[in-house]
Amino acid sequence: MSIATIRSISGPVLRARAEGPFAMREAVRVGEQALLGEVVRLDGDDIMVQVYEDTTGLRPGVTLVGDGLPLAIRLGPGLLGHIFDGLLRPLGGLDSAFVAPGMRRAPPGVFTFTPLAAVGASLAAGQPFGEASAEGGRVQRCLVPPDAGGEVVEIAAAGSYAESASVCTLRATDGGTRALAMSHDWPVRVPRPARSRLAAEAPLVTGQRILDSLFPVALGGKAAIPGGFGTGKTVLLEALAKGCSADVIVYLGCGERGNELAGVLEEFPQLTDPRTGRALMERTVVIANTSNMPVAAREASIYSAVTVAEYFRDQGLHVALMADSTSRWAEALREVSGRFGELPGEGGYPAYLSSRLADFYERAAVVETLGAGRGSVTLIGAISPPSGDFSEPVTSHTKRYVRAYWALDAKRAQARFYPAVHPLQSYAEDARSFAPWWATHGNAQWLALRKRFLTLLDEQARLERMARIIGRDALPVRQQLTLFCAELVNDAFLRQSAFSPVDRVCSPQRQGAMMRLIAKFIDHAEAAVGAGLHPERLATLACLRPVQRMGEEIGDDAIERLAELEARIDREFAALAATPTPEAADAPDR
Ligand code: ADP
Repeated sequence: MSIATIRSISGPVLRARAEGPFAMREAVRVGEQALLGEVVRLDGDDIMVQVYEDTTGLRPGVTLVGDGLPLAIRLGPGLLGHIFDGLLRPLGGLDSAFVAPGMRRAPPGVFTFTPLAAVGASLAAGQPFGEASAEGGRVQRCLVPPDAGGEVVEIAAAGSYAESASVCTLRATDGGTRALAMSHDWPVRVPRPARSRLAAEAPLVTGQRILDSLFPVALGGKAAIPGGFGTGKTVLLEALAKGCSADVIVYLGCGERGNELAGVLEEFPQLTDPRTGRALMERTVVIANTSNMPVAAREASIYSAVTVAEYFRDQGLHVALMADSTSRWAEALREVSGRFGELPGEGGYPAYLSSRLADFYERAAVVETLGAGRGSVTLIGAISPPSGDFSEPVTSHTKRYVRAYWALDAKRAQARFYPAVHPLQSYAEDARSFAPWWATHGNAQWLALRKRFLTLLDEQARLERMARIIGRDALPVRQQLTLFCAELVNDAFLRQSAFSPVDRVCSPQRQGAMMRLIAKFIDHAEAAVGAGLHPERLATLACLRPVQRMGEEIGDDAIERLAELEARIDREFAALAATPTPEAADAPDR
């Protein structure tokens, strides 16, 4: 164990004179309270340490002690269902939303262990040796850690054990033995290895129509949600946490103010999982940081969160990590970098902001795990650009690394059009590759329908600009029809309230049926206008209102009612065609 003496202190950053060897990223304990820190720079006997706790009261001359190991977090069955700080130390309820100084990790819980391997069996890294479960909680696999493997020489009988108690002993080929517990430590900044990365073929189903049907993200993909204050980032991320098709949710909250996060901490434990009807927390890990927590812990939290996600991925699960928001994390990076005396770059952020963001998003993947299963980590990061300016560094760098970009628009949010995802500023680079998936999920024409909707929305923007100058009535009828159809796509399809019991989650089957129904309405409308009907008359159709409100009124469990609505559309258009109209004599294009 090496020792060093503090020379100077600047907020969370210490300089110390080392009296022994230290390694980069080595964990250290500072002073009597054993505050947790990490070596971040070495220069001869001069070392720099980032401290993850409040350094108030520390003085030069105080000693710090090296652990000889990199800063690590404990991964195990005690994660699901709980709330932690940036280094996975438990945050109890709201009242105890702070960590005792010097606390390293959660006190070990007791879990039921069931062995899955027998003495004499040979186990490689990543293979399961047992299962762990808490009372009433879900069963999790206990895997041989990525850096272990060998023959089982001892394994505990089924029963209750502390998660850190040894339940399995392996003998490696070199003869050395290693005791395994239900949980293991893993260096916080080191990605967990997998056997291979696989091509992403399926989308992560989010249950949000505008995302799944227009701007899908891959299962194992990466998406960003930039949006100014109040545009709906938090509500959207929570809707995704509740409704998306992942098995496990890791929710990273980096709040601006304590009370914002308090909302999340209070609300999450009360949410029910729409898929199982049980508590959503059972498949969720929440990592929380507020600005009153030490800034260095906020900087580390993003690595802890993605490591936790990879830990569940390695169990063959699909994991979605929602980070709200990566801007607060970048601000922590900026503050710590300033304390190191590093030269600020763009926007005051360190020059390595971009590579750190790249490293983070790079960890999204579908993989073949070491244990030969298949798992994935999907990363979704909210960004809160100051004054909603998307050209600022965090947004512009993130944009280079994500494949789906869901830009929230202040104007839409002001008009209370939710989710306020802007259909022209957003994009999804992998969309085309999901056509086969949609074909097996009830929407063989998905790509064509998607293109049709996007084209309408694109034309809408152009025509609205024109209509503002010359007036809507002065547009040719064809263009008035385009505006009408684009508005229908917005109102009947893209609008979706996160608070509607019927519509907060929309299944792919219902999305497909709704898309086809709207396309049918548009086909009829085009034919009718082609035959001389003025587009204004379309607004008099009695079925228009039910079509606009079908999302709210026809849920996933009543999709067959959409067929009834479709039949009604056919009838009403047929009746309309049978009624002569004064415009029928006019040429269709004025
Ligand atoms: P941000 O995190 O971007 O600051 P919030 O997520 O807190 O914004 O959203 C602000 C408000 O907008 C919410 O309190 C809610 O009333 C409304 N809102 C946002 N998104 C939705 C949605 N998808 N459905 C319904 N209301 C929404």
